[in-house]
Amino acid sequence: MDDLRKEFPIFKKQKQLIYLDSAATSLKPKTVIQAINDYNQKYSINSHSESSSPLFKKVWTTIQETREIIAQKIKGKVEEISFLPSTTHALNILALSLKNHLQKGDRICLTYLEHSSNLHPWQAIAKEKKAIVDFLPLNKEFTIDISKLDKYIDKKTKIVSFVHVSNSLGVINPAAEITKKIKEINPECLVILDACQSVIHVPINVAEWNIDALALSGHKVYGPTGIGVLWIKKELGEKLPHLLWGGGKKIGPMEEIADQNLPLSQKMEVGTLPLAEIFGLKAAFEFLNNFATKEIYKYENDLRNYTLQKLKKIKNITIYNQKLVSANIITFNLASYHAHDIVDYLGKNNILIRAGNLCCPYLNKLIGANSALRISFGAYNNYNDINELVSHLQKIIQSPQVLLPF
Ligand code: PMP
Repeated sequence: MDDLRKEFPIFKKQKQLIYLDSAATSLKPKTVIQAINDYNQKYSINSHSESSSPLFKKVWTTIQETREIIAQKIKGKVEEISFLPSTTHALNILALSLKNHLQKGDRICLTYLEHSSNLHPWQAIAKEKKAIVDFLPLNKEFTIDISKLDKYIDKKTKIVSFVHVSNSLGVINPAAEITKKIKEINPECLVILDACQSVIHVPINVAEWNIDALALSGHKVYGPTGIGVLWIKKELGEKLPHLLWGGGKKIGPMEEIADQNLPLSQKMEVGTLPLAEIFGLKAAFEFLNNFATKEIYKYENDLRNYTLQKLKKIKNITIYNQKLVSANIITFNLASYHAHDIVDYLGKNNILIRAGNLCCPYLNKLIGANSALRISFGAYNNYNDINELVSHLQKIIQSPQVLLPF
């Protein structure tokens, strides 16, 4: 992995950059950038402009190959993959599609680990349908407490949606075991996985795990912004209503097309597809496939352990997930200093980490603080990044005046 950094052109343009914010967005390798350019420079036609031209063939086959490579990665079927702009979009569309699955008094279960994107869409439909939202208990590892699920899941629980790898603490929910237990209690309950933070770090097997739907974003897997994936199990996808209308394959007078049961992707994808992004997403999954998921996990974990050893020596630091199994994240605060002031100072020194509630509205219930600092690693990080970060944190402790804005 050591050589990987040179695959990321940003480090040639931003020579001073120390990027430790991959849980927000990962940087892009040159193969992804090249694939996006290739579409724009060489192919650039609409995938609806069907013809025998080599351009059409290239665009069309790339779309299919992108669905295939993603399906293989998560062990789903090709026809179960839809392209949507992001995880947030995917979860919103899914929630709206499932709205009529709910009746007054039904239950949706979530967790306090969730990103707002996996809370608000469900809370919104629950409010509309007068359903109840409940939060599943977490154990001391901060993952869903399977031993207590009996008390939370019942026949009225229609949907459980949870994060696979948390973007605030990096903890990994054992999705297979959790889903098994939920389905034992209520086989009709739908289990939805927010895999936005997990695909890079943890293998996924939606078929074996019996998941019903999953969402992920291109920009978190070394791919482009503006594209995400909604995977829905075929049997569920076939039952979902048509929510979106317009261009694509659904062409014809409304009275002729309204009742057709079209393939899932044609229900979910409307209008011109984000084609350059699809080219980029395929390259991102090809890039990921160059490494065993375990290899990336181990590399990032070695960096994490090295960082923890160094951080522990800093005066008045609170590390919230030091003892937890975490994919690639360290979450902490320095007593007396606001997280945003620290991030500001580090930013001025070209060191990017994240501050705030980390898009987790219930962060306080996890760590007892409303905001924190988050370091998150990518495959391009190295030990020098960490040494630089730690030396700047030490500078703050030694000379707090560096935090002053002037
Ligand atoms: N869920 C998780 C766990 C995330 O980490 C993120 C992105 N930080 C999202 C959802 C939302 O992703 P997007 O902004 O790409 O829609």
